[in-house]
Amino acid sequence: MSFNDFNFNRDLNKGLKIAGFKEPSPIQKEAIPLIQDGLDLVAQAHTGTGKTAAFGLPIIDKIANGEIERALVITPTRELATQVSDELYHLGRFAGVRTLAVYGGVGYGRQIALINKGVDIVVATPGRLKDLYNNGKIDSFNPEIVVLDEADEMLDMGFLDSVREIFEYIPQNRQTLLFSATMPDAIKDLAENILYNPEYISVVRDDEETTNNNIIQKYFVIEESQRDNAIVKLLESEDYNKALIFCRMKREVDRVSEHLKAMGFEAEGLHGDIDQIERDRIVKDFRRNNIKVLVATDVAARGLDIKGVTHVFNYHIPFDPQSYVHRIGRTGRAGKDGKAITLVSIEEFRELKRIQKEVGANLELSTITIGDDNFDDTALNELKSKIESFEINQKIDIIMESFKDSDKDELLKKLLSYVVEKENISSALKLGFEQDRVDRFYNEYLKEEKAKKNKKRKKR
Ligand code: AMP
Repeated sequence: MSFNDFNFNRDLNKGLKIAGFKEPSPIQKEAIPLIQDGLDLVAQAHTGTGKTAAFGLPIIDKIANGEIERALVITPTRELATQVSDELYHLGRFAGVRTLAVYGGVGYGRQIALINKGVDIVVATPGRLKDLYNNGKIDSFNPEIVVLDEADEMLDMGFLDSVREIFEYIPQNRQTLLFSATMPDAIKDLAENILYNPEYISVVRDDEETTNNNIIQKYFVIEESQRDNAIVKLLESEDYNKALIFCRMKREVDRVSEHLKAMGFEAEGLHGDIDQIERDRIVKDFRRNNIKVLVATDVAARGLDIKGVTHVFNYHIPFDPQSYVHRIGRTGRAGKDGKAITLVSIEEFRELKRIQKEVGANLELSTITIGDDNFDDTALNELKSKIESFEINQKIDIIMESFKDSDKDELLKKLLSYVVEKENISSALKLGFEQDRVDRFYNEYLKEEKAKKNKKRKKR
């Protein structure tokens, strides 16, 4: 199948040629004919698959042919809004298609004027778009095609309510396209509500940027202060032959490798400040199994092809998705199985999700318990201090009133059990947060981040 098969408008073909697209990507092959047929569509695809052009090309074509007048793309972030708007502009400029990125943090006036004047494709973030609709500023903007791009990201960022509200302003007789890298239930529900009888397609990237299936990938969400302890406990509990531990910085490599040596592991550090002869010796020793644990930076470990690495640990999550793929690809080589374990703090959790989405990694949340599960004095003290630090709820008298007929002892037992369970209080060392704790902490973290941002904005 080639781009010719889509019978695009000549002016659009010019844009395609200049963009240098030679043949349609898999998602484009599947999505474009469906969109041309006017169908609603749910497409599961990661960034990098060519998904923007998959919806952009048929939209531009329909505008260029006069089949529709206006389209709307909703994206989770302003960066993505700008990127999508730019790509659509470049593809559609010979067809005279006008695009506009609309997002918060900048003045309303120009955006309102351009939308009302009649730009063809508006690429907007949910917050600003909702504002504009709510305030009656863009009443005449009635897009005939609406795209929700990176819907799962919108869910993560807490935008789904805004999205639902926006759809109340958009005419029913529209074509709706939903793109998402993952399909959590909330997105499936959304699709059921705002799409009409959609087609479903799924295209997962199949190139060296995706991760190898032989590798079991786990992650632990930990407190920042638990990192050193966690790596030691994991090495103790995992049955490894050779382990590679990745750090972000040279001095972190030095610190972690010294710590592991002090704890009795056959470990060495590897980074660019160690002289070449010494580095060669360390790699040779690791190869020959004289060193069992190699702690390294990304740069030092680039291209290392060492047989028998059973485990890769990410002491810190890498800065970018490709490094993640590269790091974990040091294990599971030559058809062997491997295990990759990543430690993340709540603050790093967002980066992990981004990496997971971009490379389609199959990462599984994990916890381990070390030691016994008796309830000793330490745990008891933790419980007491948790309870003492609770503030008494102002409505407590009303709540107490409604429990006045309950057995007080029984009630107290249940409440204490609730606190123990919710707060994970136990004498055993539990490594890693459970899913509900991750969700709770992550939501709090997002709220704090948002509050900080708002404060900064107000200051400005
Ligand atoms: P996306 O998945 O939309 O973020 O696109 C990833 C990149 O692939 C963008 O830089 C596009 O310009 C590019 N691209 C999209 N479709 C094609 C294609 N058919 N051939 C070559 N590059 C493409």
